[in-house]
Amino acid sequence: MMHWSLKRQSSWVQLAGHQGNFQVSKGGEVLKLYSELEAKCLDSLMRDPLRPFVPQYYGLVTRGEHCYIRLEDLLNGLRRPVIMDCKMGVRTFQEEELVKARTKPNLRSDMYQKMVKVDPSAPTAEEHEQKGVTKWRYLQWRDTTSSTSTLGFRIEGIMMEDGSVQRDFRKIHSLTQVTEALLYFTRSQLDTLVIGSSLLFVHDHSKASVWMIDFGKTMPLPDSKEVQHGVPWVEGNREDGYLIGLTSILTALSQAISL
Ligand code: ATP
Ligand code: MG
Ligand code: MG
Repeated sequence: MMHWSLKRQSSWVQLAGHQGNFQVSKGGEVLKLYSELEAKCLDSLMRDPLRPFVPQYYGLVTRGEHCYIRLEDLLNGLRRPVIMDCKMGVRTFQEEELVKARTKPNLRSDMYQKMVKVDPSAPTAEEHEQKGVTKWRYLQWRDTTSSTSTLGFRIEGIMMEDGSVQRDFRKIHSLTQVTEALLYFTRSQLDTLVIGSSLLFVHDHSKASVWMIDFGKTMPLPDSKEVQHGVPWVEGNREDGYLIGLTSILTALSQAISL
């Protein structure tokens, strides 16, 4: 589940993601709660052509009972930054999660409640009667409530330079609405409209950058598999739709520029 949080200690701001996963560290680093998958991914990214586009990874550190991933603080040195987190891809769950969920056909009333809260008409008549949905059903439904399944990305949130956070974007669907949100992000400085392949857009009055972050669900494909990133997902083809999202962002940005 996604929690919204805004932690502001010195320059550090956590715009989205799981609360409690991050710790502020000295020396231009942030600490993110260890996950084996993410650490492995960052490790290989440090030896990859994509390295300049991801936060530098400095290895692991233990604080108290927990192990953390040491990352470059992408906000270091910025004054009153404006930040936007875009979650990329046409789905936000792994195929493994879906397969696991399918083996547990028990009804979840917590997920039913969440569903009704977002859209009372989303459950079927049967689901309403049972006051429960399977996790399998919930996972797939959730991504249809945002632009994730249609545009291949969704805006998780935007923080403006005064520290105010906008998080009402998760229910937007259309490219026009996304364009409006991007205009909001760039409102203060139209000349620093940022274009690039990433999740975290950051700008202040002197600098603008785009970073790929959050590799908690990124993993190597089995040897025999290849994905194209730009074609629709159907279960089993492993496609993530990253490039579909990127194309949507670029389309929305060019619309924003021409407005
Ligand atoms: P999710 O719920 O999306 O899986 P998560 O807990 O894995 O989230 P991230 O998405 O990695 O967390 O990060 C959450 C937020 O923390 C980002 O939106 C961003 O504001 C901030 N953040 C993450 N990494 C960095 C970094 N290296 N430098 C600066 N800010 C960061
Ligand atoms: Mg994230
Ligand atoms: Mg994550």
